[in-house]
Amino acid sequence: MKELKELVRPNIWALKPYSCARDEFKGVKADVFIDANENPYNNNVNRYPDPLQEKVKSLISPLKGVPADNIFLGNGSDEAIDIVFRVFCCPGVDNVVAINPTYGMYQVCAETNDVEYRSVLLNYDYSFSPESLLAACDENTKVIFICSPNNPTGNAFTRESIETVLNGFEGLVVVDEAYSDFCGQRPFRLDLDRYPNIIVLNTFSKAWGAAGIRLGMAFASKEIIGFFNKVKYPYNVNVLTQKKAVEILTDTAVLQRHIAMILEERSSIMQAFSVLPICERIYPTDANFFLAKMTDADKIYRYLVEKGIIVRNRNHVVLCENCLRVTIGTKEENSKLLSALRQYK
Ligand code: PMP
Repeated sequence: MKELKELVRPNIWALKPYSCARDEFKGVKADVFIDANENPYNNNVNRYPDPLQEKVKSLISPLKGVPADNIFLGNGSDEAIDIVFRVFCCPGVDNVVAINPTYGMYQVCAETNDVEYRSVLLNYDYSFSPESLLAACDENTKVIFICSPNNPTGNAFTRESIETVLNGFEGLVVVDEAYSDFCGQRPFRLDLDRYPNIIVLNTFSKAWGAAGIRLGMAFASKEIIGFFNKVKYPYNVNVLTQKKAVEILTDTAVLQRHIAMILEERSSIMQAFSVLPICERIYPTDANFFLAKMTDADKIYRYLVEKGIIVRNRNHVVLCENCLRVTIGTKEENSKLLSALRQYK
C-alpha cells in the first residue's frame, strides 16, 4: 500500500475539522449544558446526538469483532461510500475501478464528485478476474470497489480473488459486505490487521431489519477512520437512530431468527421458481435476493406491477438481460408472487 499521505486528498490531509461544542469539554463531568444553543426543555430530542456514537459502537464492536476505533457510522453505508470519494479522490484527476454490474451508488458518488468511474465487466458466470481489475488501474486510481455478495447478481466472490486485489493494489479496496450476514464466508472485517488498505462496509438495512433508521458501518484502520470522522457532518447519526440502534443491538436473537427464516424461504422460493415455465434460469445466491432469467422480464415485470407486486427489473443491466431481481419476502409475500407467476399467460 502507498503511504496514506499519498492517497488522501491534500486538502483533506491539511483540513482542520469542525470542532463541535461537545468535543471541547470531553471527559469532564457536567450537568449544565448551555454551550450548544439548544433549547433546554427536555423532550428527548432537544439535545444534539453524540457525534462519535460511542454507545452504539461499544455494542457493535463485540458483535462484529472489530475494535470501536476501527468503526465509522454513517447515515446508511451510502454516506460511507460518498465519504470515500471526498477523502481520497481529487475531482477531475483521480479515478476508481469497480466490477460491472454492481451496486449503482459507487458510480453515482463518483460522478457527483467528478471522479472518473472505470468499470470492468464480470465474467459470464458472474465471477471477476482480479487481473482485469488490476489492469484497469493506473497511477491515478485511488479506490477499487468490490461488492460481495454482489448486488444485483447475488453471488459472493472467492476469498482468493478478493485477496489478490488487496495484495496487488497500492490504493484502497472497498469490500462492500452489505449482504454478508446471509453468506457463509468469513467476512473481511475480521482481517483489518492483515490489510491496511481495506475498507469494509456493513449496514443495518438488510439482515438487521432497520433500513428505516439509516445506519451504515465502515470498518478500516484507525487512521482511515480518523479521516472519515474529519470530513463527516458533525452530528451525522441522529438521536432517534442511535437510540433505536442500541435497542436492536441488544436483541440479537431476532437477527438470528430473521436470517434463518429468510434463508429457509430463499430455498423454497428458488425451488418453486426453477420449475416455472416462464423462468429460464435462476442464479445461485449468497444474499437475501436472487436473480431469475425470465422469458420476457419487461412484460412479466409490468404484469406483476398490475397485480401490486413489485420486484426489481434488471433487464437493462449488462449481463442481466431478461432478469428480475427478487428480494426474499415473508412466506405470504412469496406465495403471492408465486401464485401470480403461475397464472401468467
Ligand atoms: N451496498 C450495497 C451492496 C447495497 O445493496 C446497498 C443498498 N441497497 C447499500 C450498500 C446501501 O445501504 P444503506 O441502506 O446502508 O445505505
